[in-house]
Amino acid sequence: MELNEHIFRANDIRGVSYRDLTEEVIYKLGKALGSEAQDRGINEFIIGRDGRLSSPDMFEWLSSGVISTGCGVIDIGIVTSPMFYHSTFWLNSSSGVVITGSHNPGEYNGFKIVFNNQSTSSDEILLLKKRMLNNDFKDGSGMIRGEAIEESYINKIVENINLEKKLNISIDCGNGAAGVVAKKVYEKLGCNVVELFGELDGSFPNHHPDPSRIENMQDLIDSVKNNDSSIGLAFDGDADRLGVISPDGEMIYPDRQMILFARQVIQSKPNAKVVFDVKCSKLLSDEILKLGGEPLICKTGHTFIKQKIRQTGAQIGGEMSGHIFFNDRWPGYDDGIYAGARMLEIVAASENNIFINIPNMVSTPEINIPADDDKKFKIVDEFIENSKFTEANIVDIDGIRVEFKKGWGLLRASNTSPVLVLRFEAETKEALDNIKNIFYQNLKKVYPEVRNF
Ligand SMILES: [Zn+2]
Repeated sequence: MELNEHIFRANDIRGVSYRDLTEEVIYKLGKALGSEAQDRGINEFIIGRDGRLSSPDMFEWLSSGVISTGCGVIDIGIVTSPMFYHSTFWLNSSSGVVITGSHNPGEYNGFKIVFNNQSTSSDEILLLKKRMLNNDFKDGSGMIRGEAIEESYINKIVENINLEKKLNISIDCGNGAAGVVAKKVYEKLGCNVVELFGELDGSFPNHHPDPSRIENMQDLIDSVKNNDSSIGLAFDGDADRLGVISPDGEMIYPDRQMILFARQVIQSKPNAKVVFDVKCSKLLSDEILKLGGEPLICKTGHTFIKQKIRQTGAQIGGEMSGHIFFNDRWPGYDDGIYAGARMLEIVAASENNIFINIPNMVSTPEINIPADDDKKFKIVDEFIENSKFTEANIVDIDGIRVEFKKGWGLLRASNTSPVLVLRFEAETKEALDNIKNIFYQNLKKVYPEVRNF
C-alpha cells in the first residue's frame, strides 16, 4: 500500500482526495476503525460526511472497510461536524467518524474521529496508523443502516437558547455543510434570516469556507450593511467554526467573541475556567481575571482545547481559528451554529451595539509563512534556541509566545498546513512594529528564505 504518512495529523487525518486518500488507503482506514471499535466493545460505528465532491466515494470506501471487520455502520448522511458529535451523544453508538475537509480547499478531504464521545488524541491516531501498516484487522460482516439526526439536533439547540427579542440576521454558509441546517435553526429560534451560499457545492464557487480570513467575509459584511442586520454569522466548511460581523460591518475575531462569551458564562458561573489558545489576545485573559474567572492558556488545535476542558472542567474554550467549545449548557464540543446562537442571546439581551464596548488593541491577524512540513518544527525549535528576549515572559507550550511589557509576539508551526504561524498584538502601532521586527530579525537567522512580514 502506498501511504503518505503526512495524512496522519495531530488532531485528525487529512489529505488530497484520490492522491493521498486513495480507495486502498481509505478502505484500510475503515478496517482499522472497525477493528479498533470492536476492541473497545463498540459494534456500531457512526459515519457522517460533508458536501464535498469526493465525500460520497470516501464514504463508500470507508464503510466497506468498517463492515468487513464485522462492525456495523450507522450512516447519518450529509451533516456538519457538530451534528456528527451530537449523534455520538444521541444515537446507540458513542463512536464514529465524520468525513470532512473542514475549511481546506476543495481537493482535500479528511476524517475527524470520535471514540466514546471523545476526539482521538495523537497517540490514538498513531495506533490507527500502526494497524493500517501491520494489517492488524478483524474479519466479519457488518451491516449498514441509516439514521436521521437533523431534527433532534435542531430541537436540542432550540430548547437550549432563549432570545429576548426577534433579530434580523445575515448568515453565510460558504456552500459548506452549514447549509443543511443553519437557517432552519435560526428561523426556529425566531430570527429573520438572510442566507448567503446555503447550497451545498464542494467546488466552493463563491469564496473559501474559512471565516477566520477577512477576504472570505466580504459578502457577509455587505449583507449585514445592506439588510440592516443585527449581526452576521459565518461558518467554515463543516460548521465547527464561527465568524462574526458586527452591525457596523466590523469583523469580530474569535478572541474578542470570547470576551463576550466569557462575560456571559462567568456571570452565571462565578470562578469559571476559560481555555483559549496561544494565538488569543492578552485582553481576553485580562478580562477573565477581571470578572473573577480563571484563564487557562493552551496549545492550538481543537483536540488540545477539548482535552484541556476535560482535564480542568472548564466551562468554555475558544480558539483564534473560530472553534468555540461550550461546556456550559452544552456537552463541550465545538459547534459554530450553537456558538452563533449563544452570540444571538447576548445580542438580543443588550440595548445597544454590544460590539462597540469590547476592548481592543493594535494587532495583526494570523500571519502564515510557507515552510515545508518536515522543516517547520525544526525552524521553530532553532528560533527558540537562538533568540534572546530580555524583560519578557515566555510561554512555550506551543512554539513560543513572548509577552513584553507593551505587547506580545507568537511563532509556532501549524499542525494542519505547511506554514509557520505568527501573530502580534500591542498597545500602540509603534510597539507592534518593534515586536514584529524583533521576531523577523531572529527568524531570518534560522530561516534565511523568510520574507519580511
Ligand atoms: Zn471545521
